[in-house]
Amino acid sequence: MKVIKFGGTSVGTADAIRQVEKIVRNAGPGSLTVVSAFSCITNALTRTITLMRQGNAPEALAELDGVEERHRAMIAELGLPAATACFTADTVDRVRGLIPALTALGDVTPRAADTILATGETLSSRIIVDHFALQGLDATHIDAREVLITDASFGAAQPDTALIEEAVRCKLLPLLTRHRAVVAGGYIGATPQGVTTTLGRGGSDYSAALLAAAIGADECQIWTDVDGIMTCDPRIIPAARTVPRLTYDEAAELAFFGAKVLHPLTIFPAVRKGIPVVIRNTFAPDHPGTRVIAQNGNDRRLKAIAFQRGITVLHIRSNRMLGAYGFLAAVFTVFRDHRTPVDLVTTSEVSISVTIDDTAHLDAITVDLMRLGEVSVEQGRAIVSLIGDGMRETAGIGARFFNTLRTVNVGMVSVGASEVNISIVIAERDLEEAVRLIHNEFFDGGAA
Ligand code: ASP
Ligand code: MG
Repeated sequence: MKVIKFGGTSVGTADAIRQVEKIVRNAGPGSLTVVSAFSCITNALTRTITLMRQGNAPEALAELDGVEERHRAMIAELGLPAATACFTADTVDRVRGLIPALTALGDVTPRAADTILATGETLSSRIIVDHFALQGLDATHIDAREVLITDASFGAAQPDTALIEEAVRCKLLPLLTRHRAVVAGGYIGATPQGVTTTLGRGGSDYSAALLAAAIGADECQIWTDVDGIMTCDPRIIPAARTVPRLTYDEAAELAFFGAKVLHPLTIFPAVRKGIPVVIRNTFAPDHPGTRVIAQNGNDRRLKAIAFQRGITVLHIRSNRMLGAYGFLAAVFTVFRDHRTPVDLVTTSEVSISVTIDDTAHLDAITVDLMRLGEVSVEQGRAIVSLIGDGMRETAGIGARFFNTLRTVNVGMVSVGASEVNISIVIAERDLEEAVRLIHNEFFDGGAA
């Protein structure tokens, strides 16, 4: 059994949906298809809610009209039956009915917002299953709210794994044995009492991983619009190529440094159960994509370069630090008090350097740190990370890395305790050159 998830752009046009049908047809029997809302629809629904909160019912209604029109056009283009059109009209009408009263009350609660946001996946999943049926694919629909049971934290609901497993056993598994494909909307769930919730923006990957774990799938495929995870951002390195295989830890490091394809927390439920998560391109279905797995055996190759711009470095120097305890704790307390995450840290006997990317509280942080020692702040920095499992066991990588960067002024250096990455801090203006040098050295010769 497989879970096959399609993101917004993969279901954004009639041609894309036709492509989705081919992919599902080829996936073998008993697959669960999880779909996002059509591209831009969740954004439009979010705008609708904002307009309601601003008391602007006419524009909220107009925004919703746009949402309806987009689905109507899709139904027409796919030649779907009247029943699909009726379902769509009814679903949108129910939201339309809420707008005047909620707007007048001036109180669109998170609970009401989730009911409105769920419309995108409710509609996309129904339209897609109806298209499958029309193409003669044996498919049925399941309302994700019947199986994806969550708590009542509207807007970022937490799944209840035990209840999900039970619901999946009773309601979803029987459908999967009877039909070639079952289709569900991602992103949405419900409380045990049946109140609609959402898992947070981009939550369809999370739905897919949770359901893959619950059905014990042998693979969870995430279909998107790129060929998987790349060795580097192709906007800087046109020769970047797909990383065929990656451990979960490597994927997490990459995402942390800005690779946007996947949020690792969202696939954790699948990876924890040993289910491989494969990222594939809907528009290049023959490309094998990237496989994310729990453990990579003996694969010690370097995987990718990640980077992040807009980094600020703070250096704190104090002789009090010499031989003292509690100094680092005092420094980190300042960051905690200002709710600012620290990314890289390096220390010496008398100084500590940290990087942050959120500078909203920089001034206040600096003032507080000045009580602990001399503080200097460098802005306009960038972090570059070389990522690959078991880096420290591979002799000579560090030497090659720094040799490659002879011409670049390297600030902080950090070797992750997870042995998955070496990170450096450099000036933002040196970023592209540094990334190019590292990619040339480690990836162009086919090292990855
Ligand atoms: N449609 C939702 C969003 O745009 C969920 C998703 O696509 O994963 O955030
Ligand atoms: Mg998405």
